[in-house]
Amino acid sequence: MSKAKITPLGTVSPYGKGERNCPGFMVEYKGHKVLLDCGNGITRLMNMPECLNNLHVIITHYHKDHFGDLGALQYASYVYHNLGKLKQPVKVYLPNGDFANNESAVVSNTESFVKYSFIVDGSSFAIEDLTISFADNHSHTIESYMVKLQCRDFKMVYTSDIGNTNFDHAVAFCKDSDLIICESSFLRKHNANSQTHLTAYDAGLLAKRSSAKRLLLTHFWPEEDRALYVEEAQQVFADTSAAEEGVALIY
Ligand SMILES: [Zn+2]
Ligand SMILES: [Zn+2]
Repeated sequence: MSKAKITPLGTVSPYGKGERNCPGFMVEYKGHKVLLDCGNGITRLMNMPECLNNLHVIITHYHKDHFGDLGALQYASYVYHNLGKLKQPVKVYLPNGDFANNESAVVSNTESFVKYSFIVDGSSFAIEDLTISFADNHSHTIESYMVKLQCRDFKMVYTSDIGNTNFDHAVAFCKDSDLIICESSFLRKHNANSQTHLTAYDAGLLAKRSSAKRLLLTHFWPEEDRALYVEEAQQVFADTSAAEEGVALIY
């Protein structure tokens, strides 16, 4: 297959710190780009203006750590379009259900060069032979989509923010993935008792139960040592690593 390149641009929440940004993952495939979330600070790592060409931006849910840089990206599209360096609009995909409450925060109808589409549960679109499909995890605090990117011999899932109350659904969606990029907001030692985010241990369980080949953890606390997340997930799933800004995976 043509190679897919997956580059973490942001791996922490709820705020950036130092070289760390809020959530964002760039997937490049056959000259196309799919940006999974657009968190605070990720435009620092984007190769402007080339990266705006053939770009699909997916906002998985309307929490601000996941779209904090969308305004900057949209304004960049406007400027570079006016300079003749961007011929096709950037495609931006937004959750449909909570749209009315968030429209003013995310939509830029002037001073942007973008085209909006909606995400609903079970929807999908294709880029050449790559299918991008969505499933509301029904376990975060608001409508929040898992995203699957699949072609004939490669399958990856980005969980985005997800809780532990609908675990079988997540396992089914992630089944037999080559890669799961999974949030791990907490360590068990935090005693968060959160049902709307996962621990690193939960992320390991998701990878194990879905028979995934590899687990990439993300959505860390900025102050916490990420080696602890990897150790915790590895108690149940060995092939686990921590996402690092700028460190790409090739498939
Ligand atoms: Zn988040
Ligand atoms: Zn969230």
